[in-house]
Amino acid sequence: MIPVFEPVLGKKEIEYVNDCLNTNWISFGGKYNKKFEEEFAKYCGVKYGIATTNGTTALHLALLALKIGKGDEVIINDFTMASPAFAVEYVGAKPIFVDADRKTWNIDVNKIEIKITKKTKAIIVVHIYGHPCDMDPIMKIAKKHNLKVIEDCAEAHGAEYKGKRVGSFGDVSAFSFYANKIITTGEGGMIVTNDAKLAERARWLHSLAFDKERKHIHEEIGYNFRMSNITAAIGLGQLERIDETIEKKRWIAKTYNKYLKNIKGITTPVEEKYAKNVYWMYGIVIENEFGTPRDELKKKLFEAGIDTRYFFWPMHAEPCFKQHKYNPKDYPVSTELSKKGLYLPSGLNLTEEQIKTICKKIEEVQSKK
Ligand SMILES: *Cc1c(COP(=O)(O)O)cnc(C)c1O
Repeated sequence: MIPVFEPVLGKKEIEYVNDCLNTNWISFGGKYNKKFEEEFAKYCGVKYGIATTNGTTALHLALLALKIGKGDEVIINDFTMASPAFAVEYVGAKPIFVDADRKTWNIDVNKIEIKITKKTKAIIVVHIYGHPCDMDPIMKIAKKHNLKVIEDCAEAHGAEYKGKRVGSFGDVSAFSFYANKIITTGEGGMIVTNDAKLAERARWLHSLAFDKERKHIHEEIGYNFRMSNITAAIGLGQLERIDETIEKKRWIAKTYNKYLKNIKGITTPVEEKYAKNVYWMYGIVIENEFGTPRDELKKKLFEAGIDTRYFFWPMHAEPCFKQHKYNPKDYPVSTELSKKGLYLPSGLNLTEEQIKTICKKIEEVQSKK
């Protein structure tokens, strides 16, 4: 079976983890914690990094640091993985979803403003599948309405908008280092920000809000979102190879593009003029002209030993949010993408031969119709 993804771990990760074990520095507060936060923030072009237990807690921490809570509304892509919407629910605010753009699959910038109300406090923009959102108009809207911007960069480490890396545009940005992300620590996450006060507040909250002078006095409810030194050690090793990883991702996309080019009814990922796409997952949309429905194609590929995944389910249609009664008519594009989208194997060990085989199989499914 060609898997959808598998992580690749190198010698550095092993060396750094062994160093933690040999020196007894296994919990939070070790040298790899500090180094990983500093180096990752620097990589993003941002001053401060606070590592967390995962990407979901990073988003939660970002909202807590911004003091977003009960009665507030937060705008988010409708077409996304659920974590940013969950994080908004954790702090007692309400997620307000915006339809996707048919080309980039990111938030449709033209549909944001009609969703803004007096209660709107922030926008979470999710850079979907490695392609950055169109940040200039987003930042303009945020400024006009006095909204905070949180970038969810969980799928886009190293992606660029007009030559600047994602994570450096918002008031605060969140990353995930889950096993299938561009860099991984197994489970892990980080927020990055240029705002010293916000960074300090986030660091305090993420370690149980211990008081600096009187340790066991708590002015606010704290959280334990700390990353261990062992986890950070893996992250540092991964970060040292991130350029290579992104190069490989871009090569995978280029190679798929080459072999899928002549198949009618397959829409491949774009890279807008303003963007450097890191192609976290290589997604395709099975258009009606393809002739075979997406679900059938997935089944045929699976039978041929090729694993794939459906695109995200749109947030407005999630059973867990049904109490909010979102209007499905507002979300034609994300609904269509969720029914027609499929992502293909995107692992770092993928060879040209395998990509060729996958594309040939897709062609075969079509010609058999
Ligand atoms: C993976 C992911 C997350 C959450 O990351 P975890 O580390 O699994 O909690 C958040 N947002 C998006 C868009 C993701 O893809």
